[in-house]
Amino acid sequence: MSNIEKTLSIIKPDAVERNLENEIKKIFIDNGFKIIKSKKIKIEKSEAEKFYKVHETKPFYNDLCSYLSSGPIIVMMIEKANAVLDNRELMGATNPKEAKDGTIRKKFGISIDKNSVHGSDSLENAKIEIDFFFKD
Ligand code: UDP
Ligand code: MG
Repeated sequence: MSNIEKTLSIIKPDAVERNLENEIKKIFIDNGFKIIKSKKIKIEKSEAEKFYKVHETKPFYNDLCSYLSSGPIIVMMIEKANAVLDNRELMGATNPKEAKDGTIRKKFGISIDKNSVHGSDSLENAKIEIDFFFKD
């Protein structure tokens, strides 16, 4: 039985800035993910606001959108069995201080806002987020 899923991963500005793209991609590949699509882009704040619209009522929304649009990011469509949940596991907790050993955020995250990676939180949102960045 295969349960191949695609999900969206973003390497956030703090990690791109520290040249962690290849190291983070290697972690995905070593954990069984295929990187099907990848592009380095810089987005406008208005696009970040659209992407993170689900958080628009949160106190951190404005800073979050400023941050995601503050520098280059790598957006990736990645694939494996159970990709959505397995990516969330591999990323670790939102706050790097609470992330488990072996997770990307534990290894590279600086703070709750500069936590190095984004990952879709459900299969439904994965489709929406992949479309957001890769719809041709
Ligand atoms: N965030 C923040 N402060 C908070 C909670 C979240 O700056 O108190 C940021 C953080 O960068 C996080 C993003 O908002 O990755 C989206 O929050 P979410 O709860 O969806 O966390 P995630 O799904 O990224 O783990
Ligand atoms: Mg989230």
